[in-house]
Amino acid sequence: MKQMTLEEKASLMSGQNFWNTKAIERLDIPSIMLTDGPHGLRKQGGKADHLGLNKSIPATCYPTAATLANSWDKSLVYDVGQDIGKEARSEKVSVLLGPGLNIKRNPLCGRNFEYFSEDPYLTGELASEMVKGIQSNGISACPKHYAVNSQEHMRMTIDEIVDERSLREIYLTGFEKVVKESDPHTMMSSYNKVNGEFANENQHLANDILYSEWGFDGVVVTDWGGNNDRVTGLKAHNQLEMPSTNGITDKEIMDAINAGSLEESILDEAVDQLLSLIDKVRLDDKESVQVDHEEHHNKAVAAARQSMVMLKNENNILPLTEGTKVAVIGDFAKNPRYQGAGSSLINPYKLSIPFDTLQNSALNIVGYTQGYKRMGGKSNKLLQEATSLAKSAETVILFIGLDESKEAEGVDREDLKLPQNQLDLVESLVKVNKNVIVVLAGGAALELPFADKVQGIIHTYLSGQGGGEAVVDILLGKYNPSGKLSETFPIRYTDVPSSSYYPGHQATSEHKEGLFIGYRYFETANVPVRYPFGYGLSYTTFEYSDIVIDGLSVSFSLSNTGKVAGAEIAQLYIEKVDSRIFRSKKELKGFDKVYLEPGETKRVTLGLTKRDFSYYNPEIKDWEIESGNYNIQVGSSIQEIHLEETVEMEGVTPTVFLKTEYPHYAMANMEHIPDSEFEKILGRKLPPKSWDRHKDLGMNDTINQAQYKNWLGKLLYNFIMLFHFFFKKIGKPLTANNVYFIINMPFRQIDRFTGGTISKKNVEVFLRWINR
Ligand code: BGC
Repeated sequence: MKQMTLEEKASLMSGQNFWNTKAIERLDIPSIMLTDGPHGLRKQGGKADHLGLNKSIPATCYPTAATLANSWDKSLVYDVGQDIGKEARSEKVSVLLGPGLNIKRNPLCGRNFEYFSEDPYLTGELASEMVKGIQSNGISACPKHYAVNSQEHMRMTIDEIVDERSLREIYLTGFEKVVKESDPHTMMSSYNKVNGEFANENQHLANDILYSEWGFDGVVVTDWGGNNDRVTGLKAHNQLEMPSTNGITDKEIMDAINAGSLEESILDEAVDQLLSLIDKVRLDDKESVQVDHEEHHNKAVAAARQSMVMLKNENNILPLTEGTKVAVIGDFAKNPRYQGAGSSLINPYKLSIPFDTLQNSALNIVGYTQGYKRMGGKSNKLLQEATSLAKSAETVILFIGLDESKEAEGVDREDLKLPQNQLDLVESLVKVNKNVIVVLAGGAALELPFADKVQGIIHTYLSGQGGGEAVVDILLGKYNPSGKLSETFPIRYTDVPSSSYYPGHQATSEHKEGLFIGYRYFETANVPVRYPFGYGLSYTTFEYSDIVIDGLSVSFSLSNTGKVAGAEIAQLYIEKVDSRIFRSKKELKGFDKVYLEPGETKRVTLGLTKRDFSYYNPEIKDWEIESGNYNIQVGSSIQEIHLEETVEMEGVTPTVFLKTEYPHYAMANMEHIPDSEFEKILGRKLPPKSWDRHKDLGMNDTINQAQYKNWLGKLLYNFIMLFHFFFKKIGKPLTANNVYFIINMPFRQIDRFTGGTISKKNVEVFLRWINR
């Protein structure tokens, strides 16, 4: 670094192009490549983009994180990470942009399929394994998006208003675990603001927490185009801005140093960190590796098998016996939905089709019919064809789910419903055939109003390229399902705790529900759900016995009492007895996936730490334990607890978060939290919720806001919306999504995303016209 000029040092702070850092040849500093991630390698050979628009080279498409999380299998997640990392390394990719570990605050988030869970403990445990697996290849994982990026709606401008306790206990715990347990070499900051500051400029998130408290020693990378003010970002440890800014922001860094508003030592520290990263992950001097794509395909099938969840098996309709006369219905049987849209879109090396696998199985397939129009819309013809085929079979296997436009980067879902044409089809089929088995596809929770009417439900989630083989193995009992839900399935959307606050106002998204996310709310408020957190069925039965608690170690026996081999996910929850502070009734603090032969018993031991009993106290800036009794519960889901013991913990008598002072939180009464109660937790007044329509628009504002300015702004807004509706109408919802994306893009990003075709100067002129 001492040999570098100021210009060279600043040049390293942003990309060379869309995916590479800059090289400095005279000093043998190579360029390294960063690319997506997270459930496979998305390396683009030709045109580059960050929304999955242009093709990438073929790679193995593994189940997405939301799917893998249902396996609750740490070694599986490690293996998948290792495979993806190997594919990256073989393609000379030094940094793989994943895993994504944002918390599923609300089931509508368009990118939930890329994230692990509503629970931070499960998220952190699994994401750490993925990081370790990826990095075992001598490259870097890049956990993302740090932090509180739990919505796509206005993700580049929204200010996430969240109190410190919820921030620590819910949104940061996963990242903290990852940093402390798996030492990622890089981390991606998110686009959004957190409590008033952009995440990549956020002193509290980056300097206080990530670097000082957790001891992160890697490099923070902006999300693509996520830089706001380069110098402020650098001061908050944002070492690498991606993609290229054609040197514009490097110059801003130099100017700031020359003007004395930025100390050169800050740049030096960032350069030092970046050089250390390059040293660790440069591939130009490392042996190349070969990937056996067939082997990886088989591993993708195995991963999918372990991640699918059997939600219903009435009268043991499953597994199906050989020779059963089966009607296969549903477009998804021939055109499977196996991944989400956006920057994670993998070009699969090969794809297994459920229908083809079914046809080659021991079942007697009496026919196939499409059943419904994939992108929605009524078709009596398809409905009738399906209904008459269903009459001719003993059993119907019905493939339904969300289409590809529903779960995509940049847009949130509008509701939790399956399309009406699919719901109508289910209704019609159950009237003519009493053996309907539903195979669901989709990367997040859904409303399932037909759950009581069908005999079987298997949720494949987004199972990657091997899902078509995996689901047939489960249907036929060649594999005993072992997945359990890593998120709660509510009965209806309005039951969701954040449903009154999500996705927020124009300017802010207030996390009024605080830490009552997912099961933390449903359990505490006693609200019935369709399927609880941790739930999933098996073809065998398990028995739990003999719990022993020794200090912080909990052990118990687990037996397979059925006739087939299988795996059980044993879960450990902690419940504070008579808590003085408001908190979740139960919290997940341990789990193990245990494989057992019929009749076999194993002793399972789960270790706890003091932190598992703690809550975060912002007044002392630390974690503390409330003195008293805690129930240690072991079970097969949050609602099926089989063993329970009470332990006493020494700690403090809390003086913060007292139930008596926060009546709505004490009752987990989430619907109408008064501003005053939320402000008390936040420790400050709420910022304005809406845009100030009289204020001049600046670089951080969006075209969406321009509609309120003058005729030009209105015209631009309406013009883009017209395109959006046009693409929707002609059945191109993905293109429509991408057009909509532009509406919420801040002006500062226009020059970056047009590769400088529309320059910053052009944008400034445009803003002047709009502001007239
Ligand atoms: C996404 C990131 C992704 C990046 C590069 C962004 O739009 O938010 O997750 O890694 O693009 O494609």
